[in-house]
Amino acid sequence: MAITTKPGRNVFAAMRQGALGRCPNCQKGKLFSGFLTVCDTCNVCGENYSHHRADDAPPYFTIFIVGHLVVSLVIWAEVTFRPELWIHMVIWIPLTIAMSLAFLRPIKGAIVALQWANYMHGFDPDSEPEIPAE
Ligand SMILES: [Zn+2]
Repeated sequence: MAITTKPGRNVFAAMRQGALGRCPNCQKGKLFSGFLTVCDTCNVCGENYSHHRADDAPPYFTIFIVGHLVVSLVIWAEVTFRPELWIHMVIWIPLTIAMSLAFLRPIKGAIVALQWANYMHGFDPDSEPEIPAE
C-alpha cells in the first residue's frame, strides 16, 4: 500500500464551515441536501461526503449540551421562583425541543467536517475501499 502525503487541514476552520452548513473544502457549496441529510458530493467543488460516519455523535452532543442547559435553567427557576408544575412544562418542553432542533444540524455539520479535516474513514485516500453493506 502506497502512503500518500496529505495536505494539513485546519480542523477548527473546517468545523466552523460545517456548522454553518457549508462545504469545509471550498467554503461555498452546500453540505446538506435536507435538514440532516448530508450531500453525497459538494455541488461546487465535488468533494465526496458519502464517506462520513457521523452516526450517533450529533444527537449525543445535542442531548449533552441541551440537557445541561435546560436542567440548569429548570433548577435555577425552581429555586428562584418556585413556579407551578404546569408553568415548568409550558416553558421547558418547547424550549428543549426548539434547542434540540437548533443545535442538531450545526453539530452534525461540524462532526462531518471534523471527519473530513482529519481524513477519517473514507476521507483518507490511503484507506481501503469500503465494502458495501448487503
Ligand atoms: Zn465544496
